[in-house]
Amino acid sequence: MKISEIYKKKKSLSFEIYPPKKDAELENIDETLDVLCELKPDFISVTFGAGGSSNNNRTIELAKKIKYQYGVEPVVHLTCLHYDKQEIEEFARVLEAEGIENVLALRGDRNDRVEEKNVFKHSSDLITYMKQSHDFCFLGACYPEIHPESESRVTDIKDLKTKVDAGAEVLISQLFFDNSSFFRFKEDCSLADINIPIIPGVMPVINAAQIRRMVSICNAAFPERFQKIINRYENNRDALFDAGMSYALSQIIDLLVSDIQGIHLYTMNNPVVARRICEGIRNII
Ligand code: FAD
Repeated sequence: MKISEIYKKKKSLSFEIYPPKKDAELENIDETLDVLCELKPDFISVTFGAGGSSNNNRTIELAKKIKYQYGVEPVVHLTCLHYDKQEIEEFARVLEAEGIENVLALRGDRNDRVEEKNVFKHSSDLITYMKQSHDFCFLGACYPEIHPESESRVTDIKDLKTKVDAGAEVLISQLFFDNSSFFRFKEDCSLADINIPIIPGVMPVINAAQIRRMVSICNAAFPERFQKIINRYENNRDALFDAGMSYALSQIIDLLVSDIQGIHLYTMNNPVVARRICEGIRNII
């Protein structure tokens, strides 16, 4: 099923997972999926390594497993910066052959160690190209606190409009910790005539290493209330887990009572986190 169909009827609940790199972890993925799929998400998206990672075949394998073994709709992330047309064609051919209908079209992050092919410079180029001969439902990424490479908020939203005009039907947001930034972003999108579902991505922060990683890879602002939790519980694993979950839940509830069309949970392959969040919103979503 094409993901865009969901929003004609309801709000969505979805998860993001990544394909494990180690074989041992791959063996445990069934245990993770058992829990995630029991929570009845509308779809599960599977990340794709930037820069032609050899793990990318696992993205497709995992998507197949989600679809055929668990009966949940998968979304395959696909990056383009490091591929040429022939390579993208090959991915598209495999996805079609496997019955995968939904693609989160991404540029991908720059990687000094991998050559950029300079064929697809932006995610909109990928969508435009693939749409010529393939019938996927395309999703795109968006950034409530603007993409780090964007010159300004205006150019960021303008480029997003290009992505939507190219054919993105649903947008999934980068994580953020301050809902007001998402609400402002959504308003700006609507002023720019971007009227497709914009799904907020929420990551429950549950350990200190994860927080440090977040700071280094995305420019999400830490509101004072969130910063206080980190300062207070950084060295107390269990307390940080509880406080991080409560923070994410209050963020999600605030989003759900506002006019949003779904929640995308960055699970970090942690079924305990996903279960606890879902228990907290069972009667709400
Ligand atoms: P683009 O949409 O191409 O935008 C990148 C920059 O170029 C922005 O500054 C934008 O304003 C500008 N731009 C866009 N279009 C144009 C245009 N037509 N002309 C001029 N400028 C333009 N990375 C991975 O490697 N694997 C993953 O699985 C993955 N999953 C992700 C999932 C989500 C929900 C999100 C939010 C991000 C994900 N990323 C992933 C990270 C993503 O690849 C990076 O953020 C990357 O730097 C930008 O990708 P994009 O598709 O948003 O790029």
